[in-house]
Amino acid sequence: MLRTPKKIITAHRQSEGGGFIVRRPFPTNGLDMVDPFLLLDEMGPADYAPGKAVGAPDHPHRGFETVTYMLDGEFTHEDSAGHKGTLRPGDVQWMTAGAGVVHSELPSERIMKEGGRVHGFQLWVNLPARDKMIAPRYQEVSADSIPKAHSEDGKAHAAVIAGEALGVSAVIDTHTPIIYHDWTLQPGADVTTKVAGEINVFAYVFEGEALVGGEKLTEGQVAFLGEGDEVQLGAPADAAQPARLLLIGGKPLGEPVARYGPFVMNTPEEIVKAIRDFQAGKLGEIAR
Ligand code: MN
Repeated sequence: MLRTPKKIITAHRQSEGGGFIVRRPFPTNGLDMVDPFLLLDEMGPADYAPGKAVGAPDHPHRGFETVTYMLDGEFTHEDSAGHKGTLRPGDVQWMTAGAGVVHSELPSERIMKEGGRVHGFQLWVNLPARDKMIAPRYQEVSADSIPKAHSEDGKAHAAVIAGEALGVSAVIDTHTPIIYHDWTLQPGADVTTKVAGEINVFAYVFEGEALVGGEKLTEGQVAFLGEGDEVQLGAPADAAQPARLLLIGGKPLGEPVARYGPFVMNTPEEIVKAIRDFQAGKLGEIAR
């Protein structure tokens, strides 16, 4: 059975504090989360002048995962576990904060100095109660190591970041069943991919016009899909450019959510403890 859109919303670009350009399909006033997902941000695209690029300096996380996927530009991250690296176009960092980390996420030194374009995504994936206090873990996968799926007619391609598309499996390991695909759909593309029946699935179009479960979506629109075990994706035959979309899905946790800024736990008491632990330095600090 094909999944069809049960709700479509349009995300608009806005400037966050410090001039950070973001388009945020959720959370919004009308939609707190899409269990197990807590947030999706499209960062940019922003074209920074020399010395003007902005990011997120040292801050903590506990109780969930942040997934960063770069399309353009370079982001450098550093954390309290002594980890440091730079993400380039097509690279993914799947960070499990678990019991806690302090990290910074900033455009690379080169982009800070010379300016340039930054474009990417950050997805927040909730952890089940049993995994909230596990040790932090990083999975970093470079663009050329991310498996690619192709339709038989060659008009549809997917970078398979998590889960499976057209029989191609991701290399990233997730705590609960998750799919995360970046689809490129040439004009006239029409492809159907299987998804597990028990997961929440949405499609976010970030370039061009796409067909999702038979409905046309334009750039900035996200479609939340109803029940089924297949998703049909495509692009109008007369489209002027290929469409790009993220197809994201996950098995709902169905657990209480207590969130406060960078901490996502199950109860208010656990949030208070997270804040106290951070203030006491228990989440560590970045050695510089
Ligand atoms: Mn962060």
